[in-house]
Amino acid sequence: MSIQWFPGHMNVTKKAIAERIKDIDVVIELLDARLPGSSANPMLAEMTGHRRRLKVLNKQDMADIARTEAWLAHYNALPDTKAIGLDASEPRPAQRLLQACRELAPHRSSMTKPLRLMICGVPNVGKSTLMNTLAGRKAAKTGDEAGVTRIEQRINLADDVYLFDTPGMLWPKIIVDKAGYHLAASGAVGRNAYDEEEVALELINSLKGPYADRLVARFKLADPDTIPQRHDEELLEEIGRRRGAVMSGGRVNMQKASEVALNDFRDLSLGRITLETPEEFSAWLAAAEAI
Ligand code: GDP
Repeated sequence: MSIQWFPGHMNVTKKAIAERIKDIDVVIELLDARLPGSSANPMLAEMTGHRRRLKVLNKQDMADIARTEAWLAHYNALPDTKAIGLDASEPRPAQRLLQACRELAPHRSSMTKPLRLMICGVPNVGKSTLMNTLAGRKAAKTGDEAGVTRIEQRINLADDVYLFDTPGMLWPKIIVDKAGYHLAASGAVGRNAYDEEEVALELINSLKGPYADRLVARFKLADPDTIPQRHDEELLEEIGRRRGAVMSGGRVNMQKASEVALNDFRDLSLGRITLETPEEFSAWLAAAEAI
């Protein structure tokens, strides 16, 4: 497994969340709807203790609609947890967020006992985008006032609800190898922390079963019916060949082929895709825990 993450980062974020969590009623965990299992940090449950959890499957505009439904049902069945889908195109995300949070913590909704929220999530999942939308012009104005020390650390979503204005940055927690590859494919892991070919091969591996038709349509692959049974390397090589990533002597440039596959996944050229189902993810976790 070539994906590296550094323990120093973990300790800093763990400490920051531990300090903040004392004053929080509902933890909003932002997940990437394309990888709703792999983008969750299992340590968050440990760090947040008994607090209620709202799982937000963000970037749902990029994910497979049927699989998003399955993941929402999976997470909504967990105790003290609710799940909603969201994306940056939603004009007023606060409304649905608020409603779900109020349902999770009905005892906190008065001026004396305000509902206190915090957003957490791995890099690139959309925390800043969502915070900016939630903060709107009002909060931006506060920060812009020249010479004023920024003591306001909360965004008021309603008179009796506020959100801390700095999101909790979680590190990608890689218990399952497959989760590491999916995180890397999504862009949650810095480029120099993984080998692109290794990640592209695992991406092909996750796509060739449920999304074989998309690979065929995009790359004009031969023998469409055999795609799920073919080796990942062979498929990546064919993708490279179809895209002209061929070196002198006729060999495929696997680095270029990998970039093509990863870019086409990330920029939606392959359509809306979710890399894992709840059943698959649970099976990977169980297998990792059995070792
Ligand atoms: P952060 O690292 O968690 O703060 O993530 P950012 O808010 O910086 O977002 C990372 C990237 O994802 C940016 O390019 C955003 O424009 C993009 N992004 C955020 N939310 C969405 C969304 O709901 N849908 C899509 N398609 N892109 C999004």
